[in-house]
Amino acid sequence: MKHDDRPLIVPQGPQDTPAGHVKTLIDGGDMDCGSGLLLLITRAMRRLEAGDSLGIRSAEPSVEVDLPVWAELVGHQIVSRVAETEQGPWWFSVAKAGVPAESATVFSLGGRTPVGSRLWAYTNFDCNLACLYCCAESSPKADARRLDVDVCRDLFAEFKAQGGKELFLTGGEPFMHPELGQLVEAGDGLSRTILTNAMVFGKGRRRETLENIDRSVVMQVSLDSAAPGPHDKMRGAGSWARAMDGIDLARSLGFQVRVAATMFDEDPVGVAALHERLDAIGIDKEDRVIRPVADEGFAEGGVHVSIDNLEPEPVITADGAWWHPVAITNPHMRIADAPLVLEEIFGVVRDTLSVQDAAEAAGREVFRCA
Ligand code: SF4
Repeated sequence: MKHDDRPLIVPQGPQDTPAGHVKTLIDGGDMDCGSGLLLLITRAMRRLEAGDSLGIRSAEPSVEVDLPVWAELVGHQIVSRVAETEQGPWWFSVAKAGVPAESATVFSLGGRTPVGSRLWAYTNFDCNLACLYCCAESSPKADARRLDVDVCRDLFAEFKAQGGKELFLTGGEPFMHPELGQLVEAGDGLSRTILTNAMVFGKGRRRETLENIDRSVVMQVSLDSAAPGPHDKMRGAGSWARAMDGIDLARSLGFQVRVAATMFDEDPVGVAALHERLDAIGIDKEDRVIRPVADEGFAEGGVHVSIDNLEPEPVITADGAWWHPVAITNPHMRIADAPLVLEEIFGVVRDTLSVQDAAEAAGREVFRCA
């Protein structure tokens, strides 16, 4: 992904458009519904009240067909559409349905996590897979950049001492870190989750590591679809079946397993099928996360993220600290270099948030030019 040539799309406030007066306007340029426009629209809709109108300008002909289909699916109403010329661009006014925001998206919703309560740690960057949308640019060839156990003992102790609660260990594939067990132990006393593709811990030394991990640790396993097709397309042939085996193994050993699916587009049919599958194997509803691809790392498309639209969840890696785990390759989201001082990292995040909150309270978007 190139950060420099991507259009920055900022929803604009109330205004008159060829399609009528709208509360918020999005200029979708030449994006089609499948390459990010629906995610932009969904995010903008979540900020509106039921009945408010969202204006959309699009230069992409397929949007004229696809947008009404999507609106009907989620219950919004196309109030008007106007073509400037036969070749476009097209203007739409879409009234938000009178349903809770949760019903308007298949993606899991969340709120702001108090800064200082949650910490992410990239244990390493190498991975047995090389998924097409990997935000960390991990692969078997990636430099491992492993977190050091002693550094983590100090950092996690500092985190606990200042009231930290949750620790998420991610990568890369954490089970490829030869000292994962010790990293997990260094976070003893915290609510701990390991994010894994569940494909490499079936035997040998990694199986031993798995079996020795405390059963209070949650295994969050990536599974993108109810059947192999979409998952294997993004993650590699055979990966779905091996992930399912890994889920079975972790559960048979007594671990709580959370399933996390990643997808480019709102896919209500695919998501419904996935929920059905997870019902069948007994994964609790609370243990399911459906999230969009972020336009970061290897991803070609997906949700554009920035410090201005992404609630912070600070991350440490072997070589620095970052605003959020999905933006670990984005130089604009870097908070600090190593060595890491958590107090300073959280301080920078809090200061940045207070400026953003003040601007939002004043009714302005934070639009950063530098
Ligand atoms: S998305 Fe996860 S499983 Fe896929 S390459 Fe990246 S770290 Fe590995």
